[in-house]
Amino acid sequence: MTTLELEHTGALWWATVFLVALLGLGIGSFLNVVAWRVPRGESVTHPRSACPGCGHPVRARDNVPVVSWMVLRGKCRDCGEPISVRYPLIEAATALLFVLVLWHFGLGIEFVAYAYLAALGVALTSIDLSVHRLPNALVLPAYGVLAVLFAAQSFITGDWWPFARAVIGGAALFALYFGAAIVYPGGMGFGDVKLAGVIGAALGWLGWGPLVVGAFSAFLLGAIAGVVIIATKKSGRRTRIPFGPWMIAGAAVGVAWGDSVWDAYTGTWA
Ligand SMILES: [Zn+2]
Repeated sequence: MTTLELEHTGALWWATVFLVALLGLGIGSFLNVVAWRVPRGESVTHPRSACPGCGHPVRARDNVPVVSWMVLRGKCRDCGEPISVRYPLIEAATALLFVLVLWHFGLGIEFVAYAYLAALGVALTSIDLSVHRLPNALVLPAYGVLAVLFAAQSFITGDWWPFARAVIGGAALFALYFGAAIVYPGGMGFGDVKLAGVIGAALGWLGWGPLVVGAFSAFLLGAIAGVVIIATKKSGRRTRIPFGPWMIAGAAVGVAWGDSVWDAYTGTWA
């Protein structure tokens, strides 16, 4: 047995949910630091967090995920500068995603892999929406992290087929996005291409259904968002809509529902 399969009921399950949610809140708080500093080329460990308004270091009691923001009513204790609601939202979203990953995968190596990917997705979504970039410093290490975790899981189970599928999926999505970036340079950046390889590996590990559904969902969600944004804009002014968040949302759809959508589509459930 490589994964601790918990019944989704009882004290042990809820205690695990509680601890994983706390872990998510803590990681989410760190992701706020990552999302602010990595695009600026700053260290994520030094110096301590400070208010961008008055420069006063954030006190430990004002650094409690979600709770501090509510206690402070979204304002700096020293200068009253508004603190974006994005901070508690990122912390709460990370906690929720961690619990969903636990729900889906149980407690094992796959939990570590997909919780890591969820955290990466939250940070990249936040950064891509604000500065239209997917920093190499965040995307490229994911290839190594997934290779190590997936190899460890395959070594334990003795089944290397999912690992091979992850390599194939990563190469396939990388090639697909690379082609799109060459053909249509205005729409796709090379940050998207590098992220596509990570997403392809993460989906391919799970199966062909998650890979196809996840990849297709990204384009579907991106197209819907594009239509909505164009329809609600007054002028025909060109806006570059970042595609990274839709790749990540599509990947989440592929992880959660890829197998069932694929089975329904190919009729193997009948
Ligand atoms: Zn301040």
